[in-house]
Amino acid sequence: MYEFNYHQPTSLDEVARLLGANEEAKIVAGGMTLVPTLKFRLAKPSDLVDLVGISSLRGITDAGDALVIGAMTRHAEVERSPLVKQGIPALAALAHVIGDPAVRNRGTIGGSISNNDPAADYPAAVVGLGGTVQTTRREIAADNFFTGMFETALDRTEIVTAVRLPKPQAACYMKFKNPASRYAIVGVFVARTGGGVRVAVTGAGPCVFRVPEMEAALARSFTPDAIKDIAIPQDGLNSDIHASAEYRAHLVGVMARRAVAGCG
Ligand SMILES: Cc1cc2nc3c(=O)[nH]c(=O)nc-3n(C[C@H](O)[C@H](O)[C@H](O)COP(=O)(O)OP(=O)(O)OC[C@H]3O[C@@H](n4cnc5c(N)ncnc54)[C@H](O)[C@@H]3O)c2cc1C
Repeated sequence: MYEFNYHQPTSLDEVARLLGANEEAKIVAGGMTLVPTLKFRLAKPSDLVDLVGISSLRGITDAGDALVIGAMTRHAEVERSPLVKQGIPALAALAHVIGDPAVRNRGTIGGSISNNDPAADYPAAVVGLGGTVQTTRREIAADNFFTGMFETALDRTEIVTAVRLPKPQAACYMKFKNPASRYAIVGVFVARTGGGVRVAVTGAGPCVFRVPEMEAALARSFTPDAIKDIAIPQDGLNSDIHASAEYRAHLVGVMARRAVAGCG
C-alpha cells in the first residue's frame, strides 16, 4: 500500500472541498473493493475521503411509490430492512446473496454502483427497476448511469448520495454465482411495473444491459415460456476462466426464465 492522507469529513461540502483541492483524492465507502486495490498497489490516491461520518447518506426511506436508499447504506441493512422486504422483496433477496457476511456488513450500495464491477449485483436491480441515481449534482436515470466496464456517468468529484427505486408489481433476481467470490457469472433481474417489463443482465457483458426482445415478449405474456426461444448473441459477452461467452449467453436465458418464474 502506498501512503495517503486520510480524511473523515462530516458534511458533503467538506467532501467537495477535499476532492476539489486534491486531484488524486478518492472517496472510500465500505472499502471492500478499494482497500484490496490499494493493498495490491493498483491505485495510488494522495488522499482518501471517507464518507462514513456523513449520516445523511445512510438509511432507507419509503417515498410511497419508491424506496430511497442512502449511498452509505450497507448491503446487510438492505437485506434486513422491513421496508425493503415489504416494498421490493427481490432487492432484499439480492442483497442477501452478495459476497459473504463480512462483505455485506461493510459494502455499500453507493460504493457498489459507483464501482460498477461487471459482475456486481446491484446494477442489475437499479436498471431492472428503472431506478434513478441521486448525486451531489443531479439525478441520473439508471439507463444512463452505467456506461461501461467499471465506468459510470459520474464526474471525478461527483458523489452518489442515494438511489431511488420504484416499487414494482413483481420482481425477482436470479444469479448463477461464482462459488468462490459469489460475484455473478450471470445474474438477471426481471421486474414487472405499471410501465411494462424490464430485464437487466449483469455478469454476462462488460456492463449491465437490458434485453428489449425479452421485455417485449414478457409484456405480451409474463411466463417463462414466452422467452424460451429468445437466443442471446454471444458477441461481446465476457469470456474468462469462469465461463465462455457461449455459456454466459445460454445462462442469460436460463436465469431470465427462472426469474420470471420466481416473480410468482
Ligand atoms: C470477497 C468479496 C466478494 C464480493 N462479492 C460480491 C458479490 O457477490 N456481488 C456484488 O455485487 N459485489 C460483491 N463484492 C463487492 C462488494 O459488494 C462492495 O459493494 C463493493 O466492493 C463496493 O462497495 P464499497 O462500499 O465497499 O465501496 P469502496 O470499495 O469503498 O469503493 C469502491 C469505489 O467506489 C467509489 N465510491 C464509493 N462510494 C461512492 C459514492 N457514494 N459516490 C461516488 N463514488 C463512490 C470509490 O471511490 C471506489 O472507487 C464483493 C467484494 C469482496 C471483497
